[in-house]
Parts: sequence; structure tokens; C-alpha cells
Amino acid sequence: MDSPIKRRYLAVIILLLLATIINATLSYRHSRDYHETRFLMDTEVYIEAHGPGARKAVKEALAAMEDLSQRLDSYSATSEIAAINDAAGIKAVHVSQDTFVVIKKALEIARLTGGAFDPTCGPLVNLWGIGPEGNHKPVPSPEEIKKAVQLVNYQRVFLNEEVQTVFLPEKGMRLDLGAIAKGYAVSKAVVILHNHNIQSALVAAGGNIYALGTRPGGGGWRIGIRDPFHPDTEAGYLELVNQAIDTSGDYERYYEEQGLKYNHIFDPRSGYPVTFTASSTVITPDPVAADALATALFVLGAGEGFPLLAKVPDTEGLIITTNGDVLCTPGLQDKFIKNGAPPQQTTGWQTKKLVIEVNGREVQSLVLTGNEKQLHLRVPLKKGEAIVEIDGGRARVLPLPRDICPDGICSRTGWISLPGQSIICLPNRLVVRIIS
Ligand code: ADP
Ligand code: MG
Repeated sequence: MDSPIKRRYLAVIILLLLATIINATLSYRHSRDYHETRFLMDTEVYIEAHGPGARKAVKEALAAMEDLSQRLDSYSATSEIAAINDAAGIKAVHVSQDTFVVIKKALEIARLTGGAFDPTCGPLVNLWGIGPEGNHKPVPSPEEIKKAVQLVNYQRVFLNEEVQTVFLPEKGMRLDLGAIAKGYAVSKAVVILHNHNIQSALVAAGGNIYALGTRPGGGGWRIGIRDPFHPDTEAGYLELVNQAIDTSGDYERYYEEQGLKYNHIFDPRSGYPVTFTASSTVITPDPVAADALATALFVLGAGEGFPLLAKVPDTEGLIITTNGDVLCTPGLQDKFIKNGAPPQQTTGWQTKKLVIEVNGREVQSLVLTGNEKQLHLRVPLKKGEAIVEIDGGRARVLPLPRDICPDGICSRTGWISLPGQSIICLPNRLVVRIIS
């Protein structure tokens, strides 16, 4: 027969057991879905993961990203990149495996993009000094820019695989991994999540995102692409599974002066910020390639950039030009879901006026009728002249000699025909715009 003491004893044991089961279930649940945000690499880093061990996996991935951010940050005096830069023209510097791998990869992508992405662009970044909060140095002189451009050359980075050293042969050369480090950190996080057998996760370091597996409810991860003209809204979205996506935008770091916008992505050939791209996006399985290629695409524009992406397997790209055109590679045509029409699109004929400015001053203007036939306007510049061609209500700038416009920015913008569109040539401080 059960004594009351025995029964009470049994009840306590059952209660304890129940509490243990509830506790275990809760912590199991807790560890199945986990997300955390940290501020690293000058941006918000967010990881969410689903499945057993999610919490541990996310914590480990974030720790690895934090460690990398310290080693790769060229702004931090104690980073490995700063050590390489400080020793430029003096000696080779031994670096960790990760730093060596990311520099090697950066040089590969620099070769692939013909230097549109160039990790030695540090002298330009320093000279222009375009910081996160729109703070900046004064617009540099053409001579200063020329001097900095001469120090930018990915072909002059010497790697020694055996002893894992990096050497910059000239004083003043500077590595800047700002356009690839976040992608590398994301790729490291993804490896760690895989090692923990995570089947569903999202890793985001600013615009560098990796969609691992499918969403918890099934289906691809919905990734929005910001509207560069209204960065709080999306221009559209894509659904991704086991793909990396990265967007470089002119809205993150920039400043405006005398009506011209200077952003933080430079054309290493001219040394000037790129003016015709508002945002560029690359989708590819490797987060490192997505980051560096998005920057290259920003510099190259659709004309040169899309044919390049076509050569890289399983890779697509999307560009929103500063004129508001949304352009994408054929593989994205059905996959990019637009949120409304791109900005500045108009239908029907409107009264339009072409305005040409040099050095912030209007030098010519003309009402467009739509009946113009290869009309050529000559625009005197500080050195030489530009020819603006007008044909059927559209305008473009004909290619300028290389010594006047080092990278052909003006002509690469192509035709403009809508109010709000413009062609901007920073080296010549030339602006051709259409207004209504
Ligand atoms: P985000 O600011 O979103 O990371 P990017 O990945 O395009 O954008 O990186 C831009 C950064 O890369 C700049 O702040 C600068 O440090 C560096 N950079 C600028 N132009 C180039 C270039 N042509 N090639 C390589 N790096 C560049
Ligand atoms: Mg990039």
C-alpha cells in the first residue's frame, strides 16, 4: 500500500520530470530558430538559421566574421591590410591564410574584369575620402587624380604562395578590400553554417547576402533590391536558393556639390567616381565573386558588364542606371519581379529642353522637337571640346579623345531622351540634361 509520503515523493518526481521535458523542448525550439544582428565591417550583419544547433552555428559564424573584419579592414591601423600598405615599397609582409586567400581571389577578379574591380584602388579611396556619413575631402585636382591613378595597378601586387607574403612594390600603393571583404566574410559564415549541418539560413552583410537552402516554410528566400532613387523602398525582388546576391549602390556613400553627385565607387582608369550607374546587382553561387563582380559591373555598366557576366557560369546581373533604366541579363528577365514602373518613365511626347552645363554654368540650351537629324552641338571644354549629337529628340555625347576623357564615360552613358535623364562627365565637369 502506498503511504502518503511515498505518493508525495512520486508527485515531486513527476513534476520535476515534466519541468525537465518542458525546459528541454523550449531550449530545443530556441536552438532551432535563431537570428542575431551585429554591426561589423561598417554595416549591419544579420544571420538567421533554422534547424538543430542553429544558435551555436550563428554565434560561431558571427565570431568568424568579426575576426575577419579586423584583419581585412584597411582603415584599422592594426589590420593585416594596413601592415601590407605600411610596408609598400619596403618589404613583403607575411599574412594569415584568410587574408592571403582573399587577396588572391581579388587579383583573379581584377584580371577577369580587366581592372574595373581593382583591390589596389586605395590611393583613390584615400584621395577622395568619401566616408560613410557623406563626409569627404575637397574634390581633388586632375593632377592629384592622375598621380593616384598611377599607383593603382592590380598587376603590381606580388604574392608568394610558399611563405604566404604580399608585397606592394611602390610607396603610396594601398590595398583596399572594401569591395570584396564583406563577400568573403559571408562565404566564411556559409561554410560554418554548412559545417553545422544547417539546411536553411540567410546571411546578410549590408547588401551582400547568401540564401542557404529554402525558407523554413519552403520556397526561395525573397530578396529585395532597393530603389536607388528612394532607398527606403524596393525596386523589385527575387527569390533565391543557394545563391549569393550583392548590390553596390550610389546611395550608400556619396556627397553632392554644385549639382554633381560623387559616390564611393571609382573607375580605376579615370580615377573619378562612376556617374552612370545608380546600382548594380550580381547573383552567383559564390558570395566573394558576387561582391567583387557587383562593383565591377557598377564601373563597366551594362554595355561592357553584361557580356563579361555571360562568361562566368551561373551568374546574372541587374543594373539601374542613373537615368532610371532597369536593365538585366537574359537569365533574370522572368525572375526579377518589379515593384511598379521604374522612376522617370513617361509616355507620349512632352515639351523637352536640352540643357548643357560646363563647370556648373549653363552654356547652351535647346527645345527638343523630335525632328532633329544628327544635329551636332560643339561644347568648348577647359581642354578641347565635346560634341553633343541630337537626333529624333534624343541626345548623346560623341566619344572624346582619351586625354580629355580617360575612360569614355560620356559616350558610355549612351542616348538620353526623357526629362530627368542626364549625361555627366566629371573629369570635364560637363552635364548634358533633359528637363521638361
Ligand atoms: P559597398 O559599399 O556596398 O560594400 P562595394 O562592394 O561596391 O560597395 O565596395 C565599395 C568600396 O570598394 C569603396 O568604398 C572602396 O573602398 C572600394 N572601391 C571603390 N571603387 C573600387 C573599384 N573600382 N574596385 C575595387 N574596389 C573599389
Ligand atoms: Mg562589392
